Amino acid sequence: MMMCKAATRLMSKQLDAPLTARERISLRFHLMLCSACRNCEKQFSMLHRVGNAYNGTIDKPQDGTSPGATTDNVASDQDLLKVKEAMAEAETRRQN
Ligand SMILES: [Zn+2]
Repeated sequence: MMMCKAATRLMSKQLDAPLTARERISLRFHLMLCSACRNCEKQFSMLHRVGNAYNGTIDKPQDGTSPGATTDNVASDQDLLKVKEAMAEAETRRQN
C-alpha cells in the first residue's frame, strides 16, 4: 500500500497538474483506507481554493469592472475561518 507521504505528494501534485491514471488510482485507493489522508486532502483543496482566490485578488486590477471577477474566486471570511479551523485541528492531532 502507498505510504501517507507518497499520498500527500500526489494530493499536492494533482492541484497543479493532472495525475496519471496509475497515480490517481493509487491515491484513491489510499484515501479509501486512510482517514488521516482524507482529512489532509480536504485541507489541501481548501488551501488551494483560498490560495487561488488570494492570487486572483492581487492579480486583478482593483477597478471593480473586471469581467473575470466572480464570487467564485473570492475567498470569503467563512473559507478563511474553515482553513484556520482545519489547521488548528491538524496541529492538535500532531501533538497527540
Ligand atoms: Zn495516509
